[in-house]
Amino acid sequence: MLPVVALVGRPNVGKSTLFNRLTKTRDALVADFPGLTRDRRYGQASYNENNFIVVDTGGIDGTEEGIEIEMAEQSLLAIDEADVVLFLVDARAGLTVADEAIADHLRKKDKPTFLVANKVDGIDGDSFSAEFYSLALGEVHQIAAAHGRGVAALLDRALVPV
Ligand code: GDP
Ligand code: MG
Repeated sequence: MLPVVALVGRPNVGKSTLFNRLTKTRDALVADFPGLTRDRRYGQASYNENNFIVVDTGGIDGTEEGIEIEMAEQSLLAIDEADVVLFLVDARAGLTVADEAIADHLRKKDKPTFLVANKVDGIDGDSFSAEFYSLALGEVHQIAAAHGRGVAALLDRALVPV
């Protein structure tokens, strides 16, 4: 049984972009419109001789804050079947109420969780990532899924000791 890595986060943080990079496919829909990918999607990935399953999660981006939170929580269903959770936030957009709602759920789960600030390309990653420490999920791992920056370093941490 291969380890399962779930990509969790509110719509538009870059989950499908990271999924595609990890699985080297364009299988998941990457939406310029937030939340187009509505279903969980599975792909196989391999890094440094570690084979693993990646789960992309979607959601509908509601215009009301409450709806966005509810839909973001849908993606939490993938947590239960995962061995490792990568919780993505958007470093450019900053901390949102939906991020806090997801973090509240994750802190109650006994799953290895890595907090990942995506989209640090072209910005000062350290400054933009600082506020996510308030989510109390430990270190904030900076990546740019669209370009690959930080992804190998993240996997070095997240795939040990699966
Ligand atoms: P999802 O809703 O979480 O699956 O997010 P998507 O993967 O569909 O990405 C949402 C938007 O963010 C798209 O327009 C992506 O091109 C953009 N995006 C994803 N990763 C990055 C990144 O590393 N840097 C930048 N600047 N944009 C990104
Ligand atoms: Mg998506």
